[in-house]
Amino acid sequence: MSQKDLYIYNSLTSSKEKFKPLRNNNVGMYVCGPTVYSDVHLGNCRTFISFDIIFRYLTHLGYNVRYVRNITDVGHLEDSGEDKISKKAQVEKLEPMEIAQKYTNGFRDVLKKFNVLNPSIEPVASGHITEQISIIDDLLSKNLAYESNGSVYFDISKYNEIDSYGKLSGRDLNKIKSNSRDLVNQGDKRNEFDFALWKKAENNHLMKWKSPWSDGFPGWHLECTAMSNKYLGDEFDIHGGGIDLKFPHHDCEIAQAVGFTGKQPAKFWIHTNMLTLNSKKMSKSLGNNILPNELFSGENKVFSKAYDPNTIRFFFLQAHYRNELDISESAIQASEKGLKRIIEMLYRLNNIEVSKKNSDKLFDQIKSWEKNCFNCLNDDFNTPMLIAEIFNASKLINQIERSKDFGKREKEYFLNLFDNLLDKILGIDYFKPSADNDSVLEILLNIRDNARQNKDFELSDSIRNQLNNLGIIVSDKD
Ligand code: AMP
Ligand code: ZN
Repeated sequence: MSQKDLYIYNSLTSSKEKFKPLRNNNVGMYVCGPTVYSDVHLGNCRTFISFDIIFRYLTHLGYNVRYVRNITDVGHLEDSGEDKISKKAQVEKLEPMEIAQKYTNGFRDVLKKFNVLNPSIEPVASGHITEQISIIDDLLSKNLAYESNGSVYFDISKYNEIDSYGKLSGRDLNKIKSNSRDLVNQGDKRNEFDFALWKKAENNHLMKWKSPWSDGFPGWHLECTAMSNKYLGDEFDIHGGGIDLKFPHHDCEIAQAVGFTGKQPAKFWIHTNMLTLNSKKMSKSLGNNILPNELFSGENKVFSKAYDPNTIRFFFLQAHYRNELDISESAIQASEKGLKRIIEMLYRLNNIEVSKKNSDKLFDQIKSWEKNCFNCLNDDFNTPMLIAEIFNASKLINQIERSKDFGKREKEYFLNLFDNLLDKILGIDYFKPSADNDSVLEILLNIRDNARQNKDFELSDSIRNQLNNLGIIVSDKD
């Protein structure tokens, strides 16, 4: 099996399919980003970390990935019909764009602590109003939308003449209850399933734009169609988001895009499962959300101490992204121990002295372990299986420690492999000392001392410089 034999579970077909990009080596991936009206919680982070793994792995496979993750700063309504950002702006007595900026900054800051890579493009909905208006114009001209009292709605019954609405979620139209967010203006709609493309704003509404229909704002679903189409084209490889977005958001996106371009927008739909607390979905509205910064600083009341972002990231990766994951202190502590074991394994490996001779036998064993690891990733990014394989490597390291013929070639290959898996693909920043890992720091300093004694100044300087970058000053007595 080549490393490119990647299979991904496609929510659109409910099956694992072999991944092949639509355009040679280029991959287009769109992921629905946060609505920036409050702090992101750990559940949101789990979803963005899952897509970070997907982005990292596709990049590792050599694909040229254009990863677009939007910022929703307009159009996402409360059940009461108020715009979430506008409402928060009134509460905090700030401009709506100050709210959006404040929480976008917070979101980026938290993801950075989690070692999540930046997307290639991070477009904001309010910066793409003209694109959204053009799509509405197009849908109106095709009779797939209608205007009503200054608002514009997508016409589901007309759409069903060209394709069936609700394909992704597998909803039966007869059983679909209208999204409560749209109920406010139900009087304007012809059919309860129709959803808003444009809403006429009330006089006191803060965020509104001019349009041919009214001074108003776009419906939430439309921004993702406008931005994915603009940056990735009519057809692209992957569209992702949390499983709670499958319906209605993603089914609406498909309907808008098919209406606009005549094509299915994404080949693969990937949905991540939810983080729960005491088996209940973590969410802002339920009030059971844990804020990452509170967990990192030890201020969160549910937990007895502070936990490092690396530990939490590792904890998330020990579950498959398509499975629900319940967060608890005992589970995080188990992950903390597990991560420590892996880091210790790595340092042991680093410390093994190489012999003059290479060993083909060990080299083959390392390569066969490598194959097992990549088989896990190729099976729908199975990170829990990969982590189990990484733990398995300890047997191989024990064997190497006993053997006398561990050559430079094997050592470099093995260390490089570890680095690729842990650092580049899983995004575990294993050099970063955590609130509770003085012992890791001690191990690092020991390795550095050994390196200096062996006159391996490249390694010793590299450790010193990396620690210095983290604010840990290492001084030599001699
Ligand atoms: P929002 O800011 O509410 O639009 O959510 C941003 C992303 O976080 C979406 O992809 C949601 O599906 C996802 N999300 C929300 N709650 C959770 C949760 N408890 N666990 C995992 N992902 C979540
Ligand atoms: Zn979206």
